[in-house]
Amino acid sequence: MDSETVSVFLPNREDCYKRLRRARFGATVACVHCGSGEVIKKGTTGKDAQQYYCNNCETYFNDLTGTLFEHHKFPIEELFYMLKETRSVPTAQIARDLDRDYEAVLNFVHEIQERCNDVADITLSDVCEADEIYVTAGEKDIEQESPRERGLSKRDEEPFNETNRQS
Ligand SMILES: [Zn+2]
Repeated sequence: MDSETVSVFLPNREDCYKRLRRARFGATVACVHCGSGEVIKKGTTGKDAQQYYCNNCETYFNDLTGTLFEHHKFPIEELFYMLKETRSVPTAQIARDLDRDYEAVLNFVHEIQERCNDVADITLSDVCEADEIYVTAGEKDIEQESPRERGLSKRDEEPFNETNRQS
């Protein structure tokens, strides 16, 4: 019996949330219920999603509220993995790789397919389109993070060389 070790590369959880937040909220978090910007952070959920409280309509919401990730038991990094892999990998394979229940994975995959047809679902399409779109979508005044270009290279403060420029 050879036990084949399947190593699955899962994205970093916090990165997933960052990406999701960027895709759905942009630079400023607005209340998902009333649209107000009078929102404060209020801890995190059991899934490590940022939770918010809206001072305007006095309700709570979190990063996952209203997204297709909301009602699934899987951690966000696995949902992102499924979202990405389902475009090229059979569902049964994904379930095996993640050691997850096939039916549960299939449910999520079906939901992805349904939502992907819904053009109005900006949240999903932004996340769906992976890094490039999501990055360019946030060109406004995103809270200061290192400037990112395609490929998500993480470079902090690359010194700008101006000596090459002459004019
Ligand atoms: Zn509100």
